[in-house]
Amino acid sequence: MRKDKNKEKNIDKTLSRLSSNGNAPTYFFALLLLLFFLAIRLLTIVSRSDAAFGFADMKVPMSTLTGVFSSVSHMCIFCIVVLYGKVGYFTSLGLLLLQFPMQLNNIFVNHSPSTIPGVFLNLMTIVVMTLLYRNNVRINKYQERLRNQAVTDTLTRLPNRFACTELVNDLVKRGGKFALVSIDFNNFKSINDTFGHEMGNDVLREIARRLRTAADSGSTGTHDFVTRQGGDEFSLVIRDYSSEDQLLDSIRFYEKELARPMSITDCELYMTASFGYTEFPTDADNTDMLFTCADAAMYEVKRTNSSTNRIRRFTPDLMNNTERTLDIECKLRLALENETVFFNLQPQFDMEHRLRGFEALARMKDTDGSMISPGEFIPVAEKVGLIDKVDICVLKNSARFFSEILKKTGADITLSVNISVRHLMKTDFLAELKAIIEECGLPASQLEIEITESIMIESADKALQCINDLKAMGIKIAIDDFGTGYSSLSYLNSFPADLLKIDKSFIDKMNTGDSAKQYVAAIISIGHIMNFGVISEGVEDMEQLETLRSIGCDFIQGYIWGRPLDPEAAEKLVLTQKQ
Ligand code: C2E
Ligand code: CA
Ligand code: CA
Repeated sequence: MRKDKNKEKNIDKTLSRLSSNGNAPTYFFALLLLLFFLAIRLLTIVSRSDAAFGFADMKVPMSTLTGVFSSVSHMCIFCIVVLYGKVGYFTSLGLLLLQFPMQLNNIFVNHSPSTIPGVFLNLMTIVVMTLLYRNNVRINKYQERLRNQAVTDTLTRLPNRFACTELVNDLVKRGGKFALVSIDFNNFKSINDTFGHEMGNDVLREIARRLRTAADSGSTGTHDFVTRQGGDEFSLVIRDYSSEDQLLDSIRFYEKELARPMSITDCELYMTASFGYTEFPTDADNTDMLFTCADAAMYEVKRTNSSTNRIRRFTPDLMNNTERTLDIECKLRLALENETVFFNLQPQFDMEHRLRGFEALARMKDTDGSMISPGEFIPVAEKVGLIDKVDICVLKNSARFFSEILKKTGADITLSVNISVRHLMKTDFLAELKAIIEECGLPASQLEIEITESIMIESADKALQCINDLKAMGIKIAIDDFGTGYSSLSYLNSFPADLLKIDKSFIDKMNTGDSAKQYVAAIISIGHIMNFGVISEGVEDMEQLETLRSIGCDFIQGYIWGRPLDPEAAEKLVLTQKQ
C-alpha cells in the first residue's frame, strides 16, 4: 500500500516535472525575446535622446517613455499567450490587429513615417506569439497524452490504481455514501506458472472486459466504476445504492459474471474471485483507510477460503489480522534465515493399520515458544513468495531424517512432501530435488510429492511436463485435497498420479447422509478406475473408518491412528511396526 502511494506521488511528480520541462523553453524563449526588445528599445531611446537626455536634471522626453511602455506591453502580450493559452492568444491577436487600421491611417492619411517601425514591431509580435502558441498547443497535447497514460492500465485499458485513488479522494471530499470493493483472483499465479504470461494476460483482459461490460450494462442498478489495481487485483467503486442488500446484489452480479467459464486459447478456465468491501463514511473516513479496509476484508475471504461465501464486508477485528499477517511474515523470514522451520511427520496407514509412510508437515514456533499453525503461516508464505523456501527446507530436512530411518530399519515406507504448484513449475526445481535426494541417499521410489488440486485445467501442459519428469525419476505423485478443485475426468485420466488424497471436508460430511457417503464412494471408484491408490485425510473416528473400509478406501491418514509426530516419535513408530 505504502509502495503504491509512493508510486502515485511519483506519477504526479513525473507529470509536473514533464510539464515544467515542457514549458521551460517557452518561457525562456519569451523572456529572451522580451529582453531583446527591451534592449533594442533602450538603445533607440539612448541614441535618439542623447542630447535631450539629461541625467543631471532627470528630464526624460515623452516619446522615450512611450517606447518603454510599448516594449512592456509586448512583454505582457507574450506572457499572456504563454500563461493563458488559446484565450490569451486570441485576445492578444485581437488587440494587435485593432491597432493596424490606426497605424495605417497614420502612415497613409496623416503621412507620419515614424509609425512604420510600430507596424513592423506588431507584425513581428504576431509571428512570435503564433509560434509560441503553436508550441504550447503541442506541449499541452503531449501532456494530455501522458496524463491519460498515467491513469489508464496499459494491459486492460481500464482506469488504473492512480485513477481509482483520484476518484475515491474526490468522493471522500464530496462526502456522499459509497462502497469500495477489492477483488482478487484465487490461484491466478498458477495460471501464469502453468500456461505462461501471455495467457495470463489474456485472462486479465477477459476479466477486465467482463467487469467493464457488467458496469456499463447498468444491470446492477448502481453506479459503478471499475479499475485494475495491478496484478490480478481489481477494484470497484459502487455508488447510488439504497441499502446494503442492493450493494451486495451488485457485488454478486460481478461475482456471477466472473465465475462463468472462460474460453482462452482452447482452454476452459474456471476462475473464482474473492471480494472484500468497505463503506464510506461508516467503516473508514479517508482514502488510505478505505483501501486498507477493503483489502483486509478481501484477504479474510482468501484466508477462510469458503467455497460458498466469497464476499465479505470489513469489520474492525480484521485490522488485527492484517497486523498478524505482517507479524507472521516477519517471523517466517527470520525462521527461514535461522533455519528454525522444522517438520512433523504424520503417519499414513493401510486399512489393516500397517504403516504406509509419513507426510512431512512444516512447523514453526512463535517467539514465546508456542506453535504458529501452518494454516496461518503457509498462506502467508504463498502470498509473499516464501513458500519455495519453506518447501525446500521441509524437503531437505525430512528427506535427510527419513533416509537415516530407512538405512537403520530397512522399512518399505514412503515419505510424502507438499510442494506448491508454483514451486514445481520453476525451472530449477527438478535439479534442486535431484541434488537433495542424491545428497541424503533417499531412494526416489520412496519419495512422494503432494500437489494440491488447485487449478486442474484441461491440458495443463507445463504442469504435466514437470510431473512426467518427476515420474521418470521414479518419484510418486499424490493429488492433495482432492474434490476441492475443478479437475475434469479427462484431465485426471491424463494425469500420471499414484495417489488421490480425499479432502478432510468430504470425510467430515461422509456419515451425515447417504448422498455424502455415495460421493466419497464415487471418488474412490474413479480413483481405482484410473489406477490410483486412494487415501482419506482427516479420519478421526471409528464410524468414518468403518465406512471407508466398506466403500473400498485403500489408506487413511488422521488423528484416529496418528497425529503429526516429531521425528523421534516417528522413528519409534517405525521401529514398533517392524516388530
Ligand atoms: P494438508 O497437506 O492437507 O495436510 C494435512 C493437514 O490436516 C495437516 O494440518 C494435518 O495436521 C491435518 N490433519 C491430519 N489428520 C487430521 C485429523 O484427523 N483431524 C484434523 N482436524 N486435522 C488433521 P497442518 O499440519 O496444519 O497443515 C495444514 C496445511 O498446510 C497442509 O494441509 C498443507 O496444505 C500445508 N502445509 C504443511 N506443510 C507444508 C509444506 O511443507 N509445504 C507446503 N507447500 N504446504 C504445507
Ligand atoms: Ca498434503
Ligand atoms: Ca490435504
